[in-house]
Amino acid sequence: MAPKLTDQRDIDFVLYEQFQVDMFLKSDKYKAFNKKMFDMVIKEAKNLAVKEIFPTYTECDQVGVIFENGGVKVPECLRKPHKLLVEGEWGALTEDPKYGGQALPFTIAQAAMEYFTGANYILTTYPILGHGAGKMIDLFGTEKQKELFLEKLYTGAWGGTMLLTEPGAGSDVGALTTTAKKRADGAYDISGSKIFITNGEQNLTPNIIHPVLARIEGAPAGTKGISLFIVPKIWVNEDGTLGEANDAVCTGVEKKMGLHGSPTCSISLGSKGKCKGFLLGEPNQGMEIMFHMMNEVRLEVGTQAFTSASLAYQHALDYAKQRRQGRSIEKLSDHEAGQVPIIEHPDVKRMLLKMKSYVEGMRSLVYFVAFCFDKEKTSKDEKEILHYSNLIEILTPVVKAYSSEKGFDVCVEAMQIFGGYGYTKEYPVEQMVRDSKITSIYEGSNGIQAMDFIGRKISGSKGAMLDVLISEIKSIIATAKEHDRLNTLAIILEEALLLFETTCKNTSKALFSKQMTSAFACAHPLLEAAGDIIMAWMLLWRATIADQKLDTKDAAFYQGKIKAAQFFITTIIPITIGKLKAVTYEDNPVATMEDNLF
Ligand SMILES: Cc1cc2nc3c(=O)[nH]c(=O)nc-3n(C[C@H](O)[C@H](O)[C@H](O)COP(=O)(O)OP(=O)(O)OC[C@H]3O[C@@H](n4cnc5c(N)ncnc54)[C@H](O)[C@@H]3O)c2cc1C
Repeated sequence: MAPKLTDQRDIDFVLYEQFQVDMFLKSDKYKAFNKKMFDMVIKEAKNLAVKEIFPTYTECDQVGVIFENGGVKVPECLRKPHKLLVEGEWGALTEDPKYGGQALPFTIAQAAMEYFTGANYILTTYPILGHGAGKMIDLFGTEKQKELFLEKLYTGAWGGTMLLTEPGAGSDVGALTTTAKKRADGAYDISGSKIFITNGEQNLTPNIIHPVLARIEGAPAGTKGISLFIVPKIWVNEDGTLGEANDAVCTGVEKKMGLHGSPTCSISLGSKGKCKGFLLGEPNQGMEIMFHMMNEVRLEVGTQAFTSASLAYQHALDYAKQRRQGRSIEKLSDHEAGQVPIIEHPDVKRMLLKMKSYVEGMRSLVYFVAFCFDKEKTSKDEKEILHYSNLIEILTPVVKAYSSEKGFDVCVEAMQIFGGYGYTKEYPVEQMVRDSKITSIYEGSNGIQAMDFIGRKISGSKGAMLDVLISEIKSIIATAKEHDRLNTLAIILEEALLLFETTCKNTSKALFSKQMTSAFACAHPLLEAAGDIIMAWMLLWRATIADQKLDTKDAAFYQGKIKAAQFFITTIIPITIGKLKAVTYEDNPVATMEDNLF
C-alpha cells in the first residue's frame, strides 16, 4: 500500500475537535452550509489530490520546464490536474459566488488546500498566484476591473504572478528601479526588469496577469514611492475579449535546486517601449496593497512547508514500518533473532515522534490562523474582531518563518530514516528536501520575518498583539493543569512562557535604545523560541482534548496526541528555555562583531 498523502483523521481532529469549526454554521455568513457539505468538499478535494494531483509529483520534477523563444513549456502532466482545479473552481473556495467562489469558511478551504498542496505544491502555485493577483484587484480595483478579471483569476483560468524582485532589490523592495509614466489614455508605460518571478511565463493558461511594483516618475524614494500596476500578458479589452500581446517578455528561466515544474522567470518590461499597465489603487499605495495580501500568502507558504513535512513524515513512517534492519535491542545478544522493522529502534522512533509532533503542531497552527480569519469575518463584536486580527498579525511571521524552517528540518529527518535510499532518487524524500527549502527564502526571507516579528508585532500597538497571544496560551495552560496527566507539561510550558514574555518586553525596550543592534541580532532566535512555545501550546491544547477520550474506540489515536505533547514539551521546551536565556543585549557578540574580525 502506498504511503498516505496526509492524515485525514488528524485534519478532522483539528477541524471538529480542536477548533470546532461547525460553530461557523450558526453565523449569518455560513448558515447556508451544513457539516455534510463541509465534509463533502474535503472528500472531493482528497479524491482529486490522490487520483489526479499526486501522480504528477515526481514526473513534474523530472521533466522540468523548457524555455524556448520567449515561451515556457511546463511539464505536460500538470495540464489535466490544472484543468480540473480550474473547472472545479477550487482556487476560489472562500470567494464570492459572483466571481466563481463558493463562500466557504477559510478553515474548510485550508483543509482542501492541505490535500492539494501536499499532493504537489508546485501545481498549486499556479492557481494560488492567480488568486493572489485577484485579491488585490478585489480589494483595490474598480467594479469594471473586478468584472474583467476576478472570476478568471480566482478560479485560476488565468495565471497570476507577483513582480517585486529586481537584481538590486530583493529584501530591500524600496530600492526597485522599474518606472511608470502616465500616458494620455490614463494607462501607464512600464519599463524595467524583474527577476525570480514564479510562473512569470507558462503555457497552462491563455493569459497571465502581472501585478508589478514600479515607481511613477518623480515619486519619493524608498517604499513610500512605490505604486502597483496591473500588467496583463495579453491586454484585456473593455468587453473582456483578449487584445494585443503586451511588451512583458520572459527572457530566461532559472536552473534551480527544486520546484522544477514551476518556472522562475526573468521578465523584461517595455524593452520595445510598449509595456502598458493600469494603476491599482492610488499612486504610491503599492506597498500597502501588497501588505493587504501578504498575510494570506505567508499562510500559504507556511502551508507549503508544513504539507511538505507532512508528506515526508507519512513516507518515512511507512518506510520505517516496512524496512527490516538489525535486531531488537532487547535481543541484541540473540544471534538467532530475526531483523525487526526499523520503527522498533529507539533512535528511529525518536525521529518519528519528533516529526509527528512538529507536523501536528504546525497543522494546528496553520488552521488556527485560518480559524482566526473566520472568527474575524463572522464576529459582530468589535473587541473580538480586534482580538482575532491581533492574533493573525502576530502569528503570521511565525507561520511563515517557523513552519518553513521546521518543515524543511522534518523533510531532512525523513531522508535520514530512509538511510542511503533517502539520498537516492529511488524514493521521493530527496525531492521533498529540495522543494521545501525555498519556503524560508521567498515571500520575505526568514531574516525579514524575524525583524517584522520584533519590530512590528511584539512591539507594535503598545504590546497588544503580544498580550493576546500570551492570554490565549495561558488559558490552555490553565485547562491543562486540571488534567492530572498533563499538569507537569502545563507547568513546564508556563515557565517557558513567563520567560518568553519577559524576553519580548526586554526586546521591545532594547529596540528603542542603544541596544537596537543587539535586539535585531536576537530577532531570529526569539522568533524561533516563539515558534517552539506556540507548537507546545497547540500540542498541549490537543492533549487536553485527547485526555478526555482515552476510553473510546479511537484510544490509540488520542494516546498519540498526548505522546506528541509530552515529547515536545519535555524534550524541546527545555532547549527553548535555554534559547531564551541566551537572548542577551549586553555585550552581544553579534552586535560587537566587526566585519574585519571574520
Ligand atoms: C524559486 C524562487 C521563486 C521566487 N518567486 C518570486 C516571485 O514570484 N516574485 C518576486 O517578486 N520574487 C520572487 N522571488 C524572489 C525572492 O522573494 C527573493 O529571492 C527574496 O526576497 C530575497 O531577495 P534576494 O534574493 O535579493 O536576497 P537578499 O535580499 O540579497 O538577501 C540575502 C540574505 O540577506 C538577508 N538580508 C537582506 N536584507 C536584510 C536586512 N535588511 N536585514 C536582515 N537580513 C537581510 C536575507 O534575509 C538573506 O538571508 C523568488 C525567488 C526564488 C529563488
